[in-house]
Amino acid sequence: MQGYIDVLVNEDRIAVMGREYLLGELSVSLMNISDDVLKELAKNLVKLERLAHISREQHLFYRKALNTDEQRKLELALDEKIYLPKADEWLEIHKSVCCIAELMRTVEIGRAIIEPLPADMVEKMFSDIEYDSDEYRFSWIWYLELLDITMGFVEDTIAVVRTFRGLTSVILPGLKRYDVHHLAGAYHHLLFDDTFKGLAASTSDPDRLSYTLADYMILQYVPMLKPGGKEFTIAEYFRMDNLQAVLKTDLLRGFMKGHFPRQCEHCGRYFLMTKGYRTRFCDMPSPENPKRTCKQMAYAKRREKEKPSEDPKVQSYKRCLDRLNKSCTRGSITPKQKQRLVQLVEELYLKATTTPAFSNEEFEKALQSKQLYAQLGIASRSRGRPQKQQTEQTQQTTGKQK
Ligand SMILES: [Zn+2]
Repeated sequence: MQGYIDVLVNEDRIAVMGREYLLGELSVSLMNISDDVLKELAKNLVKLERLAHISREQHLFYRKALNTDEQRKLELALDEKIYLPKADEWLEIHKSVCCIAELMRTVEIGRAIIEPLPADMVEKMFSDIEYDSDEYRFSWIWYLELLDITMGFVEDTIAVVRTFRGLTSVILPGLKRYDVHHLAGAYHHLLFDDTFKGLAASTSDPDRLSYTLADYMILQYVPMLKPGGKEFTIAEYFRMDNLQAVLKTDLLRGFMKGHFPRQCEHCGRYFLMTKGYRTRFCDMPSPENPKRTCKQMAYAKRREKEKPSEDPKVQSYKRCLDRLNKSCTRGSITPKQKQRLVQLVEELYLKATTTPAFSNEEFEKALQSKQLYAQLGIASRSRGRPQKQQTEQTQQTTGKQK
């Protein structure tokens, strides 16, 4: 572990250490971390503080990695009064560090930034070196960096989960609308509104873990193709040295694209919305019957149904039918082809509303014209036409329909 986290933000996507996600996805999956795992993480953190004599938020490396070169780091480490653990203590410490790595890897962000650690790593290291020798000291300082970063990850996880959950369950449900303006306003309330004081983790909380206002990072602007690969954009490449910076970028850049988390009224888990609907239930397999989604179970059990205007799948379905009608009027598909396409769309819609086969995003994707045409082997006749002519035609058609 070198302590750096490479992050690339390109339009509505974020890549962390090369793994790509929709903005907001990583935060939502972290918010769904089990409370048992959180408790275990906290327990191990306390244990490490005791064994390694490291006090909370007094990091030698974490949040400093970007600021200091190797030489400076070493001076820093030797300069401060460092406790040198005995071999058996070090082994105990390593057990906890391995345990934390495993617990963190139960969530996606953990899998992206933490590699599993060999359990016998420490044993191998000091099998033949003497306690308090120079070699022992240097090995410990090398290990201390890994330890310090691991502890920082745990602190940030606990602080960010508490803060994001509070924001999602207390402030977001009260918004009039779920657009970029209101989502940004919600973040303003979290940070500066006295009504919501205490919602963001702070040093006055019992565990003294805080949600930081500013984070170190290095930023580089990189011109590159948009996701989809046709147009250029300026993407942002960040090098970060702490987890809070990554998660804030994920959630808040997500806000700026209209992505936001919601809590399912059926199972209590958090899920990501990419459109501004007041969706009440998630589309994950329900806890009591994994063959059905929460939305389907909630309807079956309580006769509760989303309003069609709040149901992303109904909206995707309607938009798709509109699109097919327009393509047919425009002459890019024949009425016969349209009939076959509509039939396929109806089959997909039935599957999407009766099984957990598609998330909202996957369903939207499956209904893209390109996907549908490919499945039925239909070549759209509009392909290859100059862009301008196509736009004119679309306008003409919409004009006629009005
Ligand atoms: Zn649910």
